[in-house]
Amino acid sequence: MSDPADAAARRAVPPVICYPVETLPAPDMAAIDVARARLTRLETVTVPPREAAAFRVPAGHFFRIHCTEGPQVGDLNLWNAADLSERFYSGKTRALHGSHVTRGARLWSAFPFLRPMATITHDSLGWYGRDSYGGAVHDVIGTRCDPYTHRLLSGGSYHHCCHSNLTRALAAATGLPLAEAEPHVHDVLNVFMCTGFTRDTGQYFMKASPVRPGDYLEFMAEIDLLGALSACPGGDCGAEHSSDAARCHPLVVEILRPEAPPAGWAPPAPNGYDRSHGL
Ligand SMILES: [Zn+2]
Repeated sequence: MSDPADAAARRAVPPVICYPVETLPAPDMAAIDVARARLTRLETVTVPPREAAAFRVPAGHFFRIHCTEGPQVGDLNLWNAADLSERFYSGKTRALHGSHVTRGARLWSAFPFLRPMATITHDSLGWYGRDSYGGAVHDVIGTRCDPYTHRLLSGGSYHHCCHSNLTRALAAATGLPLAEAEPHVHDVLNVFMCTGFTRDTGQYFMKASPVRPGDYLEFMAEIDLLGALSACPGGDCGAEHSSDAARCHPLVVEILRPEAPPAGWAPPAPNGYDRSHGL
């Protein structure tokens, strides 16, 4: 125990940023903007409500996730198209870029690769910023709605959680049996979802997504990607997820080829650490 003055002094110590990003390899957004000014659509993939769909994006190409019919949250997984063990690392992306991501942030891959898989190149919801509740859009906090947590909290078996949707989509895209596909599904980027932590209890909260038809989030693939996107059964996630109660809408993914890749850009190499771990 400490005396009140000492306790107050200890609590008053100012925070420091865990991972200052000044030395992080940064994208050349000016060169990217030149490339993204001339894009040709190669493919359009529709993600039905309460389902997921997979798509492939070559390195240096772009992809957009569109809201087309009504407010809808999407749960995004990314893998190296040639190696499923390299997958999006939501936790480290959060540690580097903060709890929510927008234009300029990068989606990093898991150890031992730890390199940018994709760079966010446009965010039509960038205006949202952080609201008075501490909420913001496109989080790397949430994990994904899943039938296991649902069973713990509510009982029953719900099969159209994002986890199950992504598992089915990955199995269909790769030919892996369902049980082999499932362990590759990972914590997501919550596209269009508006979330934060309550100030009093620190609990993860959601509120109705501000996304509307016409909004989109755009990425450039830094490496050859296999992606899967689930149209969350929570719809705009304003009330609940893991049920058929919420109004849900499709999402649309466009794959876009630039006339030329950004000047000076090359796919990033895997992390340079030698993995000797001190031995
Ligand atoms: Zn979900």
